[in-house]
Amino acid sequence: MRNIVLFGPPGAGKGTQSEKIIEKYGLTHLSTGDLFRKHLGEGTELGNLAKKYMNEGRLVPDEVVIGMVEEKIASTQDTKGFIFDGFPRTTAQAEALDDMLAKHGMKIDGMIALEVPEDVLKARIKERGKTSGRVDDQDDQKIQTRIKVYLDETLPVASYYQNQDKLTNINGVGAIDSIFGQISEVIDSY
Ligand code: AMP
Repeated sequence: MRNIVLFGPPGAGKGTQSEKIIEKYGLTHLSTGDLFRKHLGEGTELGNLAKKYMNEGRLVPDEVVIGMVEEKIASTQDTKGFIFDGFPRTTAQAEALDDMLAKHGMKIDGMIALEVPEDVLKARIKERGKTSGRVDDQDDQKIQTRIKVYLDETLPVASYYQNQDKLTNINGVGAIDSIFGQISEVIDSY
């Protein structure tokens, strides 16, 4: 059993690398962004609640996110572990995750943080916006807000894991397979 947090700013490549990790290690993908987009598409109450935050590039309130993750963990059986993607995004979410996992006899083995400079992030998100259909990928102001929210509210989560000696930083600029090679080495060491 391995439980991993894949961390980084919007556009760092978390989704791309998550797919490769799932394929190699058979982990369960838990992307809160994907879960919210699914709710949005299905027009659920949760989706409608999250919509205004997502469209503005702001964080959905902690209790809403935490409740959704709790449900996903509780309803997942026979897993080799989770890859958390886009969660936790606040220290309160990180604390809640530790509590949730402990209830199920699990823990986070490590956080892998992808480091990418801001100009590269912006270019990648704009490029993705051409095909992703995501409102939050297309507008310069929204992209800027998401990066600011990351720096102000999400970056402290890296310190939370560093304080537990669980943080590994990886350069997220380069060939996808080369970055994945480095990620695999870290995962194999858990
Ligand atoms: P993402 O696909 O991870 O970039 O998430 C898209 C949007 O969903 C974010 O800009 C937030 O509005 C919302 N969201 C996703 N995950 C979280 C989270 N852990 N906490 C708060 N809001 C989130």
